[in-house]
Amino acid sequence: MKIAILPGDGIGTEIVAQAVRVLDVLDLKFETETALVGGAAYEAHGHPLPESTLALAKAADAILFGAVGDWKYDKLERALRPEQAILGLRKHLGLFANFRPALCYEQLTHASSLKPELVSGLDILIIRELTGDIYFGQPRGRRTAVDGHFPGAEEAFDTMRYSRPEIERIAHVAFQAARKRGKKVTSVDKANVLETFQFWKDVVTEVHAQYPDVALEHMYVDNAAMQLVRAPKKFDVVVTGNMFGDILSDEAAMLTGSIGMLPSASLDKNNKGLYEPSHGSAPDIAGRDLANPLATILSAAMMLRFSLNLPESADRIESAVRAVLSAGLRTADIWSEGTKKVGTREMGDAVVASLRGKTITPITTKT
Ligand code: NAD
Repeated sequence: MKIAILPGDGIGTEIVAQAVRVLDVLDLKFETETALVGGAAYEAHGHPLPESTLALAKAADAILFGAVGDWKYDKLERALRPEQAILGLRKHLGLFANFRPALCYEQLTHASSLKPELVSGLDILIIRELTGDIYFGQPRGRRTAVDGHFPGAEEAFDTMRYSRPEIERIAHVAFQAARKRGKKVTSVDKANVLETFQFWKDVVTEVHAQYPDVALEHMYVDNAAMQLVRAPKKFDVVVTGNMFGDILSDEAAMLTGSIGMLPSASLDKNNKGLYEPSHGSAPDIAGRDLANPLATILSAAMMLRFSLNLPESADRIESAVRAVLSAGLRTADIWSEGTKKVGTREMGDAVVASLRGKTITPITTKT
């Protein structure tokens, strides 16, 4: 088995380094190969997703990805911007199903922006369709308006679209995931305004007929955004389109204390996947040993479980993360009084030590 390691930009290199150390401790039998992606690849090869990186990603059994992007590339033409690398990988590898678990660790209920009783025990799975919707729909561009409120004015436009097979396959993924959890799917749409999402709702309802053991509810995206901060524990599996999923999954991330805690998996139809933290390259803290590496370490655990069929090794990583949190170690984004603030590297050291069987001495005295 082969894992492609694509650290990317900003904190990507720092957090992926810690995840690789964690994988190394497990002494598993796979090869790894590292390649440039994003801004780093643009600097070296003039393109954010060079042919060689794409070829490696295609050949590998799984991909561990850091993050891409930096504000300094904002003036580049869109096709050359770092973020195009992740869009290109999703498209070329057919990674249509994005899993973003939002799990609130008991030790971190106080780091959430919501009251502890609202998030304690929170365990939501957001499944976002990843290769369709307005992010990929054509045509798109700028032109002179021929109608609308200001004919003759310069305007920009995008196209929102979903085909039946695209909706069917993500709906199947959601119902099957719900079967292994709380047996409830909330399909989020905007069917009251958008034709695309009336169609989405109709097709999800049709697919649901094959899953009578799973409950289905439909919810408009504006209400879903509200319910996520009002009563998030009422959700089990949330399935939605690319754009709504992008926004709602970041909102859900904050419920758990920090986006630095949230892993994600993007899978193709054969469960080959790209695994990355839910956050970006955080240029504001890059290179300062401040980033939380746990989302990336937990993404590596998801990779072992989903793509490499090593669930016991995944469990070991997740237990090690729980152990370091229980011992009171915190990076700055999840720090609270009475816990010990550590940097990226020290957090990685602690997870590695826990995996090696060392007891992490609890240092927390207050909660
Ligand atoms: P971001 O997720 O990088 O950062 C948002 C905030 O969260 C920042 O304050 C950052 O410091 C903090 N943060 C993020 N990850 C953290 C971690 N592990 N530990 C501690 N704090 C963390 O989002 P942004 O600032 O909007 O975007 C920065 C760059 O990342 C942009 O170029 C954007 O396009 C890119 N981006 C890339 C991806 C990806 O590679 N998949 C995803 C989102 C954004």
